[in-house]
Amino acid sequence: MALALQTFSTVKDANTALKAAGTRYLGGGTLVVRATNEGDVSLSSFVRSTEPSLSTIAVSGGKVRLGASVTMAAIARHPDLAPLANAARAVGGPAIRNMATVGGNLFAPAPYGDFTVALLALDATVSTDDSEMPIEEFLTNRDGSRAVVTSVAFALPPHNGFRFLKVSRVKPKGISVLSIAAVLEQAADGTVSLARIALGCMADRPMRARAAEKALLGSTLTKDGIAPALAAVGEGTSPITDPIASAWYRNEVLQVHLGRLLLGQIAGMETKA
Ligand SMILES: Cc1cc2nc3c(=O)[nH]c(=O)nc-3n(C[C@H](O)[C@H](O)[C@H](O)COP(=O)(O)OP(=O)(O)OC[C@H]3O[C@@H](n4cnc5c(N)ncnc54)[C@H](O)[C@@H]3O)c2cc1C
Repeated sequence: MALALQTFSTVKDANTALKAAGTRYLGGGTLVVRATNEGDVSLSSFVRSTEPSLSTIAVSGGKVRLGASVTMAAIARHPDLAPLANAARAVGGPAIRNMATVGGNLFAPAPYGDFTVALLALDATVSTDDSEMPIEEFLTNRDGSRAVVTSVAFALPPHNGFRFLKVSRVKPKGISVLSIAAVLEQAADGTVSLARIALGCMADRPMRARAAEKALLGSTLTKDGIAPALAAVGEGTSPITDPIASAWYRNEVLQVHLGRLLLGQIAGMETKA
């Protein structure tokens, strides 16, 4: 069956085209083109937009806006986005990162979506042409979404306030056993005053670890201080089982890796499963 590619200079026109049956938005194409190559015949036309704002990275006054077509490679090399470089580099190998977009990552099912785990911990907002919503709400409702995502926005985390960890079996570009991102702020006495923790592969899409966040508040980032958070982190999880790891295994190792992240025992971006 022939497959069409429609390119529009505005998001508005792309949104109109997406109302037709058999259409799908094309980001970098790393997932959606692969699915077509593997025999997905539900699509008759890809729709894309070249509106310049989609490819723009804006950093100003501690706020970041990433156009949905911005790639992982562009994020990883941007001097003002250094805290996020590890999360962007966690997506695939160099060839994938040159194509993989922020918008596509928001829709990627587990075990993918590593960068979205970072965005969830950063409490980003997700924009379309006519709406803006918290990322958690977007993720809950993404399956029914047909609108082009235009950008994500978030506040840059405080110095050393953002941590990201991807656990994989194959180096350097293996897919996730799990990933964890955390935004942490500490009071002058060292106790945690703000904690946002997001988990990848612990459900079919990135999720917040609310019970662990609550347990961390007022605690120190020491072995004893984080123990209640580690005990609580499995609450509400429903990990995927895939050829990389079973749900059981993911639940077993989650505490270990969260402990390493919270105690700052991460040498690089990834740890061995
Ligand atoms: C070999 C390989 C390794 C990979 N490794 C990783 C990995 O380690 N970590 C990881 O997270 N992912 C990984 N991926 C998955 C994928 O590359 C990334 O998740 C990537 O960010 C998806 O973005 P994309 O632009 O290529 O999405 P596409 O394939 O273009 O699109 C994916 C979905 O998102 C929708 N979409 C895309 N952009 C928009 C938009 N702006 N508005 C509305 N809908 C949109 C599409 O319609 C489609 O349904 C890998 C993929 C491959 C093939």
